[in-house]
Amino acid sequence: MVKISQVQARSILNKSKIFDYCLNPYTGCTHGCRYCYAGLFMRRYSGHSEPWGQFVDIKINAPELLPKQLARARRGTVWLASVCDPYQPVEARYQLTRKCLRVLSRHDFPVFIQTKSDLVVRDLDILKDLVELEVGFSLASDDDRVAALFEPGAPSITRRLKALEKIKGSNIKTFVFIGPILPQDPGRLVQQIRGLVDKVFIDRLNYVSQFVDFYRRHNLLAYISDGYFQMVKSVLVTELERAGLPYELIF
Ligand code: SF4
Repeated sequence: MVKISQVQARSILNKSKIFDYCLNPYTGCTHGCRYCYAGLFMRRYSGHSEPWGQFVDIKINAPELLPKQLARARRGTVWLASVCDPYQPVEARYQLTRKCLRVLSRHDFPVFIQTKSDLVVRDLDILKDLVELEVGFSLASDDDRVAALFEPGAPSITRRLKALEKIKGSNIKTFVFIGPILPQDPGRLVQQIRGLVDKVFIDRLNYVSQFVDFYRRHNLLAYISDGYFQMVKSVLVTELERAGLPYELIF
């Protein structure tokens, strides 16, 4: 049972080390990924005792707070989102991401959206109005069964790929984040995204000691070694170069 609470945020546009700003309309994420780095610290930070994936705070005042902060901010890229998925299931009802995108569009701020959910296609009408925009999906495997195990609350890889196709077909710049590298067939993954993305990012699993028990319980320890991450990286690079797809290595 997910605990959903409405809260008043004091700030919605925050400085980021990766982009100029990050914007998290929600605290918590019911995609509940087994490897989530945010889950390692957000429970304590947010004062929640529920397991990661079992709570969401809805920052209900986000669309009203955002224009006030944007009016004082230097123009820069806004990343949705750094510690939650902006299109996790509660977004269908509360529409905070959608409302914030409208505000960002009015203020002409560049936007970088990273999600695992095909709900993002609902907002194509707004996305088409954003002048500088990239939309991408996290695809850590090519295999729906692996995604169901590691990302139990997120839409399947198949659904993400269909959504990616729609977004690319709307002339929006797209990317795929292959990270953290999960058990996969890297050659098949490149075939799946071929023609659908402008750029690919590749990263390994970090904080391995925090997640090793999960891999052990599922008899997957062979997939959490440095050797496995390097092997997958090497095949991905070869296949991406063969497909003529630009990529960036994060490890
Ligand atoms: S979608 Fe992202 S923020 Fe949400 S649980 Fe998964 S890794 Fe964490």
